[in-house]
Amino acid sequence: MSPGLPRAEVVIDLDAIRHNVALLARRAAGAAVMTVVKADAYGHGVVPVARAALEAGATWLGACSLAEALALRAAGITAPVFSWLDTPGVDFAPGVEQGVDLSVSSTSELARVAEAAQRAGTRARVHLKIDTGLSRGGCPASAWPDLVKAASVERDIEVVAVWSHLACADEPGHPSIDAQARRLDTAYEIARDAGLNPLRHMANSAATLTRPDLHFDLVRPGIATYGLNPVAQSEDLRPAMTFSSTVVLTKRIEAGESVSYGHTWTASRDTTLALVPVGYADGVPRTLSGRMSVWLDGRRRPVAGRVCMDQLVVDCGDDEPAVGSEVILFGPGGQGEPTAREWADTLGTIDYEIVTGMYRPRIERRYL
Ligand code: PLP
Repeated sequence: MSPGLPRAEVVIDLDAIRHNVALLARRAAGAAVMTVVKADAYGHGVVPVARAALEAGATWLGACSLAEALALRAAGITAPVFSWLDTPGVDFAPGVEQGVDLSVSSTSELARVAEAAQRAGTRARVHLKIDTGLSRGGCPASAWPDLVKAASVERDIEVVAVWSHLACADEPGHPSIDAQARRLDTAYEIARDAGLNPLRHMANSAATLTRPDLHFDLVRPGIATYGLNPVAQSEDLRPAMTFSSTVVLTKRIEAGESVSYGHTWTASRDTTLALVPVGYADGVPRTLSGRMSVWLDGRRRPVAGRVCMDQLVVDCGDDEPAVGSEVILFGPGGQGEPTAREWADTLGTIDYEIVTGMYRPRIERRYL
């Protein structure tokens, strides 16, 4: 049986990824670029994105968990990979064996990594994390001297970097940014005084774009890689993801007829409806019902009534789209189609959540 057209697909433009990484590398001006590919590359697909980023000038990859980092190694990617958040039971030894750089925030975590390094028979590469004010992960300033001392004398540990993460980088004038930078400076000096010569890194996309003074040795952009701009200043970024589906059925209804569950929408005139086989199980939030449009046959058209689990209905007026026509749910925006940012604004969230939410087994991924 032929599988037919995909019900819904996410198309990733790897040229856009390469363009964005090259732009970030230019802006980093000498600092190395660690492309953040956690959460399946923000929903874009970790291995193809990692390869495209490395082609375009990134020299490091950033993952969240060791499992994500090891998936890169399993795909044959040998570039430096850094992973920073694991659960207490995780065995670091496979990561150490495969040269994955690990974040360490406490002496107990350091001991676990050192023990794993012993078993692996090679030194573990660690980045010591200082909490400079995000109050999430990282070593508190009060415990930092002890952590640095323990790391500097531990034979099985190579301290590669001192690092931290910003709380408010997307608001470039926010006073916490300078306060965090000062705390990182202090932590770095303590490490130097202990005889270490580590790299230093702190900048996410927003700081890469707006705070050259915080680039240090390495920047860690995530969202801008995918073409989504976290800051107000305009940037030549190209969104890489398009989410689309297909018209599977059209029909005429008369004025006064209602559409979809709950009959929340009633036709004010005779109209053509187009059925699209994509719904909230595919990443179209039900809370967009009554508040969204799609791009179909060269123009925006409203979705009529409620978004269902697997389908939604588009109000096409007097037009009659062909069965099989492409329906764009969101894309880069260049033709006038909705964007991930527009969805996020309507939903009161950020575009990060929209694109990472597109990592779904029912959705096919295609790469350009
Ligand atoms: N570094 C760390 C530790 C992160 O957790 C993230 C993402 O949240 C990034 C860098 C990239 O941030 P952004 O996507 O805002 O560039």
